Amino acid sequence: MSDDLSLSEAERGAGIVRCDACPVLCRIRPGRSGACDRYANEDGKLVRVDPLVLLAKPDLARVAFVEGGSTWAGELGKGEGAFLTGPTITGIGATTTYPDYKPAPFIVSSKHDGVDMVTVVTEGIFSYCGVKVKIDTDRYLGPEQAAVRVKGEAVGHVTTAEYGSQMLSLGGVHHLTGGSKKEGVVTCDTLLALCNREAVELTIDGGSTVVVQSNRPPVVNGVAEARMRVGCGSAAIGMFAPQWKDHVDEVIVVDDHITGVLSEHQGGVFLDMKPSGIRVRGRRSTPGRYFQVAEPGLGWGGTDVSDPLDIIDRIDPKQAWPGLKLLMVSTTGEHAAWFELDQELKPRAVEMPAPVRKVVERIAENCEPALCTVLFMAGAGGSLRAGVTENPVRLTRSVRETLTKVTLGGVPAFVWPGGGITLMVDVAGMPEKSFGYVPTPALVAPIEFTLRASDYAALGGYASRTVTLEDVLRDHKVRIDEDRT
Ligand code: SF4
Repeated sequence: MSDDLSLSEAERGAGIVRCDACPVLCRIRPGRSGACDRYANEDGKLVRVDPLVLLAKPDLARVAFVEGGSTWAGELGKGEGAFLTGPTITGIGATTTYPDYKPAPFIVSSKHDGVDMVTVVTEGIFSYCGVKVKIDTDRYLGPEQAAVRVKGEAVGHVTTAEYGSQMLSLGGVHHLTGGSKKEGVVTCDTLLALCNREAVELTIDGGSTVVVQSNRPPVVNGVAEARMRVGCGSAAIGMFAPQWKDHVDEVIVVDDHITGVLSEHQGGVFLDMKPSGIRVRGRRSTPGRYFQVAEPGLGWGGTDVSDPLDIIDRIDPKQAWPGLKLLMVSTTGEHAAWFELDQELKPRAVEMPAPVRKVVERIAENCEPALCTVLFMAGAGGSLRAGVTENPVRLTRSVRETLTKVTLGGVPAFVWPGGGITLMVDVAGMPEKSFGYVPTPALVAPIEFTLRASDYAALGGYASRTVTLEDVLRDHKVRIDEDRT
């Protein structure tokens, strides 16, 4: 019978155990698991369902251990590289010690290059977390600030576009806790799937539907994106102007942001190109660089244009001439058309000459594969730090002074300057199924703090709780992650 006095006598008699790893405080019947499926009642004992994950990374004698060899001495890794590349024990499956006035589940000692080190390992419960998504595409996903939805619920918004990529900011405490219960649940599910590198379909108000998956091409309105643009229209002119010069009279690189016009652009002027008299729509920023030549969309260069001639405002008869050769091309080389002006100075589509075709193909060749990147972002401040030290601010200072390295699932985190431990990590490098959830709702993510044993003692760490990796392995189920070799 369980001796947990928070349970009724009948509950204890029925073999029920209580999980206190998060505020939900599940009462779990024998053979069943709790609401998050991470803990279960196994013969009247509360157990973590998933094994503790070790990285198959350094030459740590995991093979010797797993295969029963006798030479391994329980080191976390060998040589200084082990510290530089992260610890080999991760927080995945490590359990939590909520509330965190208790020491973290694993405080593991190791020696690197003669230096005594400590890695504090836990699973953090993050109510303040989200993901930043970078989607390599020029195609218009939706206006900035537009809501991003899953199953009709707002889970985030479109944020400022970057060079060749559209950016989304998803999750965060307002969507997890500040809306309806359904919004919180859907947001949590979305974050969990994205962080575990699953595909999620997102719908953007006033824009497109996009399927996002870490390290995979985005699928915009059912079409998989292949190429990330070579640059903006102006940059493309700068890159390829010398290769075009002997074959064209004018090149217009169509781009929703900055459309480039070769003969006006500094790149063309430098090559002594003659003005063509072809004027494009939009607002001229500087010579040969035009903004807003069309509306954003899914056509040429992220505009709504399907016929590139639509962006030509007029052709000046004082400068243009019959037979003028004009290339129009998009920033990925995906769209391209070749024209010659007839006697009335009207562009007529004709077959593109081979040397011009070759440069168009070179634009495509210089595009990188379009991918989605999912960065998990969270605040590892708050009470989580109390599982590491009795004096939490000292951990923050130690991270700031780079005495403590922060990793998630063994992947080094970027820690933002300023207050707190606000971190970001690319989920693509983390072991499979690194993330879990609790129905509060919040995400559960592994986190490891690695520092010198002497620094750990100085910041008021729970040094007396330190164990060796060998101790951990003797007493726990482990899974060796083979993703990161
Ligand atoms: S939701 Fe999971 S972590 Fe929270 S109390 Fe229930 S079983 Fe434990």
